[in-house]
Amino acid sequence: MARCSYCGASESLPFTCKFCGGKFCAEHRLPENHDCQGLAVYKETRGKEPEKWIYEPFRAEEQEAPRGGRVQEVLGRLTLRHALYTLLALLILLMLLRSFL
Ligand SMILES: [Zn+2]
Ligand SMILES: [Zn+2]
Repeated sequence: MARCSYCGASESLPFTCKFCGGKFCAEHRLPENHDCQGLAVYKETRGKEPEKWIYEPFRAEEQEAPRGGRVQEVLGRLTLRHALYTLLALLILLMLLRSFL
């Protein structure tokens, strides 16, 4: 459990500010909402292109756990299931053929 550096509210998934590195609640995640020191410095160095800033913070958990691996795992299981069903169908067909002959 982390706490918002600005208002002190406890957050299970705090937002990390790119500019000052602080942890904030959903309400104070944007630099303007927590009187961000890092943003002021960034504005001075960046200056001319304010529209191009991307300062939407990220949730730490989302960055650390890519989801591609899990999807591939599920797909792998699906094809294995399909293979098993196909094998079962073939066996039944074989047994039917045998009973006819
Ligand atoms: Zn807060
Ligand atoms: Zn900040």
